[in-house]
Amino acid sequence: MTLLIEGGRVLGPDFSVEQADVLVDRESGTIEAVGDPGELGEAADVLDASDGLVMPGLVNAHTHVAMTLLRGYADDKPLDRWLREDIWPVEANLTPEDVRAGAELGILEMIRSGTTTFSDMYFHVPEIAAAVEESGIRAVLGHTAITVGKDDEAARADLKESLDVARELDGAADGRITTTFQPHSLTTVGGDYLAEFVPKAREFGLPIHLHANETSDEVDPIVAEHGVRPLAYARDLGLLDSGDFLAHGVHVDDSEIALLAETGAGVVHCPASNMKLASGIAPVQRMLEAGVTVGLGTDGAASNNDLDVFDEVRDAAMVGKLAAADASAVDARAAVEMATAGGAAVLGLDVGRVEPGALADLAVLDLDAAHLTPHHDLVSHLAYAARGSDVRHTVCAGRVLMRDREVRTLEERAVCARAEERAAELVARST
Ligand SMILES: [Zn+2]
Repeated sequence: MTLLIEGGRVLGPDFSVEQADVLVDRESGTIEAVGDPGELGEAADVLDASDGLVMPGLVNAHTHVAMTLLRGYADDKPLDRWLREDIWPVEANLTPEDVRAGAELGILEMIRSGTTTFSDMYFHVPEIAAAVEESGIRAVLGHTAITVGKDDEAARADLKESLDVARELDGAADGRITTTFQPHSLTTVGGDYLAEFVPKAREFGLPIHLHANETSDEVDPIVAEHGVRPLAYARDLGLLDSGDFLAHGVHVDDSEIALLAETGAGVVHCPASNMKLASGIAPVQRMLEAGVTVGLGTDGAASNNDLDVFDEVRDAAMVGKLAAADASAVDARAAVEMATAGGAAVLGLDVGRVEPGALADLAVLDLDAAHLTPHHDLVSHLAYAARGSDVRHTVCAGRVLMRDREVRTLEERAVCARAEERAAELVARST
């Protein structure tokens, strides 16, 4: 069974754009061929890409997908107060059914904006896995463990759940789900616990996904207590292996950038969240120059407030220039690369490139729009002018998840109605 995506232009891994067709093998979920228009023969199914650009599906490498239920619930506060006063009290009341409804809403939004892989940190993870299974998207999931404010028994149980969930769900949804072990951050999980549980994660071959160096409040206490920068502290605890990745990396110094490049651990840059919470500006251009693997993430919808990765691409380019005081920093190609091949490298997945052999995770962008005219440079458009609503078709693992802006795997109205209802009830019982 094959799927032919015909009539469009194709964004190649070298960022060239050519008129070409793409043939997908739906059994293996991989790209079989990229060839001259009309040369790839017949297929069981056809997607029309005329006036369109066939590009890799976007990778949202750090989010909390079910936080869509808290979109617009609390804004305009710094991270610490926002979490303590608004977010955590409501999250404490989330039921598995709420998480399912929020996950479906987030996944719906991502499919509609051309994202085919997301990497998530949350809890009630089997519900998120069920939503991934049903929707056809690809995901890297995990249960996030926190030990501060808990007694020893509860702290250990949370970390053990993170290990257990990662082992149980790895390979689920026909292999579209992979997993990570997730200490929430270096300041919300005690050092003794990290020293004990990180080696256990390694025994099972689990990569680690955590928050690090998001605000200066996450840096200063570690320097005060341990006398080293947070990422040196993380490395000493065995936390920065190749395959591991941290979200944010806003407040990193040169020694930490060198450590990231040396270990191969990835960084997920979340520019909108960092701006909204006034956390600071990550030195992305310096990281890229040092050879650090960098992907992009929206972070949760409550600190963004949407899951459109095209916004992240633009924000990354814009704020990257400001941070470097250089308009040539984080250019269009670098920004698009972070949202595609960069995110894929961070997550260790063979996605993010339109090339034979790669997983068939694709988006077709409609170029027939006033804000995308004229077509001098389509990579520039991807970085600076396109938006998620320009995506016409979304394909993941060779399956068409959205055709002509109609999502095939989720009932859009029902998903939105359920999320609206659950969100209202959640807030009502939390306040
Ligand atoms: Zn986060």
